[in-house]
Amino acid sequence: MSDVPAGARPVPVPDERSQPYWDAAAEHVLAIARCSRCDTFSIPPDIVCSHCHSTEPDFTFVPVSGRGVVRSWTVMHQSFVPGFDDLVPFVLVDVELDAQADLRMIGRLLDGPEMLDGPEMLDGPEMLDGPEMLDGPEPSLAIGAPVVVAFEDIAPGTSVPAFTLEPR
Ligand SMILES: [Zn+2]
Repeated sequence: MSDVPAGARPVPVPDERSQPYWDAAAEHVLAIARCSRCDTFSIPPDIVCSHCHSTEPDFTFVPVSGRGVVRSWTVMHQSFVPGFDDLVPFVLVDVELDAQADLRMIGRLLDGPEMLDGPEMLDGPEMLDGPEMLDGPEPSLAIGAPVVVAFEDIAPGTSVPAFTLEPR
């Protein structure tokens, strides 16, 4: 890996509560905080469990499949964060994870109709998980479309969870 160039995307800074999340992401595993009192997942984990209201939820990060369905999305035409300029337009998807009803997670969609023409698809062959991205029918972005978590390696030891569309 080469050094991160100036103007690169910001690297997330884990705090005490999110450290296990980022540790898992670095291993390309999506781990979600689960309340040890009621076994309910929480994104993000709060001080109090939003389900059982325990003030000592003692959240543990549990690996999940990372599969889910698109509930909504936003196309970002402008970057409000330094380092994302060469990525626009990109799509943020609001995903309901299979792990639990209504468990929502927002992430960047690494593919999609808007993304296929972008130059970033050409410099990032690691983002292309399979040949189906380049030939054959493209999975299309729609409400209810199945997605699976994918990871962007943005710096050595730092990966950010994102999503890719799954072929139906
Ligand atoms: Zn709870």
